[in-house]
Amino acid sequence: MEIRSIGVLGAGQMGGGIAQVAAAAGYDVVLADASLEFAQKGRAKIDAILGKQVDKGKMQADARTALVERIKPAAGPADFSSCDLVVEAATENVELKTKLFRACDEAMKPGAILASNTSSISLTKLAGATKRPERVIGMHFMNPPPLMKLVEIVRAVQTSDETYAAVRAAAEKMGKTCTVSNDAPGFLVNRILIPMLCEACFALQEGVGTAEDIDTGAKLGLNHPMGPLELSDLIGLDTVLAIADVLHRDIGDDKYRAPTLLRNLVAAGWLGKKNGRGFYVYDASGAKTVAKKS
Ligand code: NAD
Repeated sequence: MEIRSIGVLGAGQMGGGIAQVAAAAGYDVVLADASLEFAQKGRAKIDAILGKQVDKGKMQADARTALVERIKPAAGPADFSSCDLVVEAATENVELKTKLFRACDEAMKPGAILASNTSSISLTKLAGATKRPERVIGMHFMNPPPLMKLVEIVRAVQTSDETYAAVRAAAEKMGKTCTVSNDAPGFLVNRILIPMLCEACFALQEGVGTAEDIDTGAKLGLNHPMGPLELSDLIGLDTVLAIADVLHRDIGDDKYRAPTLLRNLVAAGWLGKKNGRGFYVYDASGAKTVAKKS
């Protein structure tokens, strides 16, 4: 089946980025969140990001207008009835995603595909909550979606070959390179990444070194473009913790346990760059100001 219109559920940092890359590839996009107001804010953020591209001479003003006009804000899953593909990108929580999958399944036309951008939650379980299990798949974009080249496609046990082929073609039309993984906690990328991010947090918690030295060590010693603590702040500490808890619970090995410091930062509401404070403190422009003491 050919995909022409795409719904995105969740207009946060990932959903907004996915809507942007889908619209840039020429798809008509319906962008929904928990309310129309949240979806409108998501679209306004995309417009502001593209405005900076125009100011820098990297994008034509009319291309920006055309791209943003292809994105229609919506109040929720009920507005996905015309979409060929919906990518769910709401908060990483299995109960929420199950509820949203049922609502999308109800609203979507027969034959349309329901994908999740989940970082760790079982696609097989989400597929089982719908009446279209063979049309459910993982479409794991990386952060930020407009810049990162990879889409990790995750096949649920029930995913059909036709669904996989259609989603892969859509990801490639968005300029992405795909990897494929079977449905296992954290899939491939987060199975590798999250234990490293947690280990950096354990090192900080134990006083082995400062946040700056941990991040500088990874950047200059391992050739990573970002240190693990600043990357955790970019991802969102709530998301890192949610993924770590899925890995720990579903694999059942204590090596995946989350550090107390990470749990405490999330409990304090310090979620990272998205709300101004995590391992580091950020100013209104998103620039890092000071390191938080452990
Ligand atoms: P975020 O906190 O920036 O955005 C989550 C969005 O979900 C918010 O806009 C929120 O309003 C919305 N939401 C909450 N409840 C909702 C509901 N009932 N109906 C509709 N929308 C609702 O989080 P994010 O970083 O964009 O993460 C979203 C998803 O993408 C998660 O599954 C996460 O694991 C995954 N992901 C995140 C990253 C990352 O680096 N942050 C990378 C890859 C995948």
